[in-house]
Amino acid sequence: MFLRQGWNDVEKKCPKCKEIKSLDDYHNSSYTYNKRQVYCKVCTNLADKNKRDKYKKNGPTIIRTNKVCGKCNVDKKMEEFPISRDKPDWRLAYCKKCWTEYVKAKKANL
Ligand SMILES: [Zn+2]
Ligand SMILES: [Zn+2]
Repeated sequence: MFLRQGWNDVEKKCPKCKEIKSLDDYHNSSYTYNKRQVYCKVCTNLADKNKRDKYKKNGPTIIRTNKVCGKCNVDKKMEEFPISRDKPDWRLAYCKKCWTEYVKAKKANL
């Protein structure tokens, strides 16, 4: 079913670092045909680390102290956002100032 792309079952070329490594250098994966991940362990770890760093910056605000207001686009402290328990980070997307304005505008339209 699968085309062999220049590697055999003992060695595999990592498309990221372009090195041919032994399959032992790849994490197990149940998704690929040779049961190994596409990228070698080194590259996978690096990608995981980058992902974690990115997550720290842009992920759920539970682990952040700041977030960018969806209205005024200003990076503000978490305390500046109204609490909303149905949100994943327990805070609204708008800062308190913008939220007050938003609610006011909404009421004015009614
Ligand atoms: Zn690699
Ligand atoms: Zn705002």
